Amino acid sequence: GGTVRFEDVRFAYDPEREILKGVTFEVPAGRTVAIVGPSGAGKSTLSRLLFRFYDVSEGRITIDGQDIRQVTQDSLRAAIGMVPQDTVLFNDTIAYNIRYGRPGASDAEVEEAARLAQIDGFIRATPHGFRTEVGERGLKLSGGEKQRVAIARTILKAPPILVLDEATSALDSHTEREIQSALDRVSEGRTTLVIAHRLSTVVGADEILVLAEGRVAERGSHAALLAKG
Ligand code: ADP
Ligand code: ADP
Repeated sequence: GGTVRFEDVRFAYDPEREILKGVTFEVPAGRTVAIVGPSGAGKSTLSRLLFRFYDVSEGRITIDGQDIRQVTQDSLRAAIGMVPQDTVLFNDTIAYNIRYGRPGASDAEVEEAARLAQIDGFIRATPHGFRTEVGERGLKLSGGEKQRVAIARTILKAPPILVLDEATSALDSHTEREIQSALDRVSEGRTTLVIAHRLSTVVGADEILVLAEGRVAERGSHAALLAKG
């Protein structure tokens, strides 16, 4: 399962200013849909509504046909994983930070997730450069490395639905490619909503929606949208 639908969703943070003016789309189970559009278009707002950080003003969001307002916060959290733009890590080992995705995971599972996210090699170090209880020196992680820890955590959690908030623009292109391949790995076979900043990063999406002024202005494959310019 894991089909996500937004049905004529309207939303305003402030009643004077409607951000989403009737947004309808579906992410079929196991498929990837990307949302692109200018800054301020409401892309991140869509993911906040899916997590119920806010509730829709009108319309509804469903998972497998069930309105998310009828789902407990715990099951919503279990069903959806997020790789955020900015990952805040616990001041503990990288392994601890990865295991947070699924506390019961074995060491071998943590190591496998770290390997898939290409963050293995220093999982016993800490993110901020402090000494760990095992006596190793920690190291200071770059933004890209922190994002890969978040990816490893999500690989371990293995939720049926994923939200990827891509903010790879601040990263150098080598790191960006590495992150992209790790993200591709984590989204394989899962219902995935990608919040993207550039069309170039979502070539593999099954459908791309262009959000503009609170509405879906265009939709299509990467090739179709490129052809339209
Ligand atoms: P995007 O992700 O496409 O850049 P956002 O969803 O973050 O856009 O924001 C859409 C609009 O909502 C923007 O105009 C933004 O300023 C506004 N906005 C975002 N968060 C809040 C908030 N917490 N309170 C009020 N306005 C907000
Ligand atoms: P988890 O316990 O799943 O690792 P958190 O406790 O960090 O995650 O957050 C609860 C849920 O909200 C998670 O699915 C998480 O990824 C998501 N989440 C965290 N930060 C944001 C954010 N800025 N925007 C949207 N969703 C977020």
